[in-house]
Amino acid sequence: MTKLPDTMKALVAYSADHYVLETDWPRPVAGPGEIIIKVEACGVCAGDVKAKHGAERFWKDFIIAPVIPGHEFVGHVAELGEGVTGFAMGDRVVSEQIVPCGKCRFCTTGKYWMCEVHDIYGFRDRVNGGMAEYMRLPANARTFKIPQNMPIEKAILIEPFGCSKHAVDRADIGLEDIVVISGCGTLGLGMVGIAHLKNPKLLIALDMQDNRLEKAKEFGADLVWNPGKVDVVSEISKITEGYGCDIYIEATGHSASVAQGMAMIRKLGRFVGFSVFGAPTTLDWSVIGDQKELDVLGSHLSPYCFPAVIDWIDKDKIGTAGVAKHILPLEDWEKAYQMAETGADGGFKVILKP
Ligand SMILES: [Zn+2]
Ligand SMILES: [Zn+2]
Repeated sequence: MTKLPDTMKALVAYSADHYVLETDWPRPVAGPGEIIIKVEACGVCAGDVKAKHGAERFWKDFIIAPVIPGHEFVGHVAELGEGVTGFAMGDRVVSEQIVPCGKCRFCTTGKYWMCEVHDIYGFRDRVNGGMAEYMRLPANARTFKIPQNMPIEKAILIEPFGCSKHAVDRADIGLEDIVVISGCGTLGLGMVGIAHLKNPKLLIALDMQDNRLEKAKEFGADLVWNPGKVDVVSEISKITEGYGCDIYIEATGHSASVAQGMAMIRKLGRFVGFSVFGAPTTLDWSVIGDQKELDVLGSHLSPYCFPAVIDWIDKDKIGTAGVAKHILPLEDWEKAYQMAETGADGGFKVILKP
């Protein structure tokens, strides 16, 4: 066995405006039950970009720095701590973004994704992320093997599409439902593919960018509309005899999409809120009770979703082509963050390779 180096290359976030590509950062070492992976690649998430912009909520209440960002990683097992079972050197793995404490009320009742401690890779120093050459998966990590031959452009989507699956699970789609998914970024596209597997009566995708809508169509949307060009609320009304859609999944993170959803959803409908918002949403709350008696459901992370998503991606049961097409070296992290933010070149997911 070749000895691993003592130091490594790593992107380190010291504060919102102070990110440094360190070249001799200490390499993590596997303690009991822990796994060290050699990172193959790491996707840049909207959450990473928001943290870089100093989203107040993140830096005040959540981030513990200095920290290595990145929770959308794929890697190979490079060191096994004492007592690790089920994994061997060289295994190709992914890990859910939360590392459960295992002790809180949520963890002990199987609701680990809402863990009170809430250690998420890439946001806290004790769970450093994948924008580095090596990474430590703690003993409580929820780690899964993936096929060695799965192209990295597909494998990198396991984590985001895991979150997509949870949102679709929450929506509880039935065969008779008219489902609207608002927002066709990486996560929204994952939702389109997975909602399509549920075979609803009609699957409609909304986005302000036509290239994203084309992708949604390719991944299984029956209709795609650009709210910047058509009055989507009246279009829904037209095709539902004025009733409205049965289910609305919000995946844009913009307040306007929340109001739009509340306007187009039918009475007794289901609204799934997934996104992280940059600003508060103002709304006449009576739509939820007095006017429509809605089920408003939240969705967070990807509990119990990875095994199915790995299988679907591997077998091409859900669309992945062209979602992650830009692969940059870690040295170009700044450019990658910029591309992730602006969606440059019609790309969706930007991948960094350490
Ligand atoms: Zn993410
Ligand atoms: Zn916990």
